[in-house]
Amino acid sequence: MAEKSFNAFEMAQAQFDQIADLLDLENGTRKFLRTPMREFSFTIPVHMDNGEVEVFQGFRIQHNDSRGPSKGGIRFHPQETIDTVRALSMWMSWKCAVVEIPLGGSKGGVICDPHNLSAREQEQICRGWVRAMVRNVGPAADVPAPDVMTNAQHMLWMLDEYESIQGSKNPGFITGKPVGMGGSLGRTEATGYGVIFTLREALKELGLRPDNTLASVQGFGNVAIYAIQLYTQMGGKVICVSCWDQKEQVSYAYRKADGIDLDELKGITDRFGGIDKTKAASLGYDVLPGDEWIEQDVDVLIPAALENQVNGETIKKASNRVKIIAEGANGPTTPEADEIIKDRGIFVIPDFLANAGGVTCSYFEQVQSNMNYFWEKDEVLGKLDIKMTAAFQAVLEMSKKKKLYMRDAAYVIAINRVAQASKDRGWV
Ligand code: NAD
Repeated sequence: MAEKSFNAFEMAQAQFDQIADLLDLENGTRKFLRTPMREFSFTIPVHMDNGEVEVFQGFRIQHNDSRGPSKGGIRFHPQETIDTVRALSMWMSWKCAVVEIPLGGSKGGVICDPHNLSAREQEQICRGWVRAMVRNVGPAADVPAPDVMTNAQHMLWMLDEYESIQGSKNPGFITGKPVGMGGSLGRTEATGYGVIFTLREALKELGLRPDNTLASVQGFGNVAIYAIQLYTQMGGKVICVSCWDQKEQVSYAYRKADGIDLDELKGITDRFGGIDKTKAASLGYDVLPGDEWIEQDVDVLIPAALENQVNGETIKKASNRVKIIAEGANGPTTPEADEIIKDRGIFVIPDFLANAGGVTCSYFEQVQSNMNYFWEKDEVLGKLDIKMTAAFQAVLEMSKKKKLYMRDAAYVIAINRVAQASKDRGWV
């Protein structure tokens, strides 16, 4: 029998069904929330540099906007599918709800590979995406952002197209803009710092002082670097990081028993978060196979690279000393690993709570853009801390009250909030 291929939307629906059972959600509400409210699938014709016309497929899925305008990134990817975008839009609804920001969930995409497109061709795709969606997006309806293989430049082209059509300035149409062009200070740090705000609370809950703890981190990109920076400032020590070696197409872990030096490692890291192996060795780091990041004798594991890394096999190699897993990446832990983590009594800060600092700061960017008044960095990060801490405490309280695994507690809160808003509006 052929193996069934992985379908992200089926997985998102299965997760939802499990929590819907737990919440005993009414049938109508259940049917409504397990399917996106609106789906747009459209073509984007582009005059290519070679004179031919190429037609790209674009998507926007708005899962639920009962709690406010929907929010979600736009991905450019050659393997993009409508089901991936559907799943991601649903996860955005839960992520915004769990940190209690007044936004719904959406996601967009275009099937394309920016590596093989000139800047002009990419600009035409961005402008075409906006022309196709202009009636159904906007500051009060649905606000896009960067995601896989899209960046601040793409967001500016999209903003420019939107404003040209509207005939007015509307910086709140999109987030992820460069600072000085409507972007928010603190956005670069937001996701990594958010992970550590929640970790700080988890340590408190377990009666641990950060300066008595060691951590190992998978990844050395945006999320990992700022997580390491704040954790180190709190007194914690990171003894191992791992990353992908682009040249050799394998991952390596870099270990220093008395703690890695963040600035030293950043100085030998490329823009994709890959550390120079030879230079690291000459600086006294042990160079290990990449998988060994999870085997270190530490209190805290921070997966901050990609999905499916903490799985049934790898979690068995984690040291007995591990007390907390703070999920910086999206979907780093498989359901099989979850069962082992539960048995071992390891405390998990689930991904859509731990890494929600990014979308929370994007919400702050939306607010600042709509006012055309921009906050100082300390103000942004202070507000972020308040939001993340409150969200963590609410999930912790739910997990204690109902004796739920932290991931399930986070889902219960998020799904309940979206269900309630949909009900209060009289939709279900
Ligand atoms: P990034 O591209 O900046 O960094 C990714 C890092 O992972 C790099 O250091 C890379 O070398 C490493 N890596 C890749 N494959 C690896 C492997 N097999 N083993 C070890 N390391 C590997 O990405 P990022 O923005 O830091 O995002 C990391 C994760 O966090 C992703 O799952 C992303 O979806 C999630 N996330 C990011 C944000 C954000 O604001 N950046 C927000 C929410 C969630």
